[in-house]
Amino acid sequence: MLSNTLSIIGKTIGQQLNNGSDTTAVIDFFRNYKVGMWVYPGVLKRRFSLDIGTVYALFAALEREGVLQSYYEMYCSHCQKSIGTAVLFNQLPDTFECEICHSELPALENSVVIYKVIRDD
Ligand SMILES: [Zn+2]
Repeated sequence: MLSNTLSIIGKTIGQQLNNGSDTTAVIDFFRNYKVGMWVYPGVLKRRFSLDIGTVYALFAALEREGVLQSYYEMYCSHCQKSIGTAVLFNQLPDTFECEICHSELPALENSVVIYKVIRDD
């Protein structure tokens, strides 16, 4: 991450996280990310012992700031396996077929929201 984007991230983290959180460490976490890289909310949650709701609120704020873009990654709830496809919300099909067990699954209920870095300047 370059300095303009990091300063936006720092400001947003300051607004979104409690005073008790280690905001410097969270900013350092983002420092290694570059445009086009995926950021998984679950990774941030585990690394910093954050509430998942707090993580999603932070990521939504970063999306509003133009740093991140949300995507949907479809996974099979039988196999617990990602089918490796991330799409924008309006590209999400009604259903998809798992390539392993061939179940036909409703897409929205079998997706997790992940984020892609879209700004780094
Ligand atoms: Zn499956």
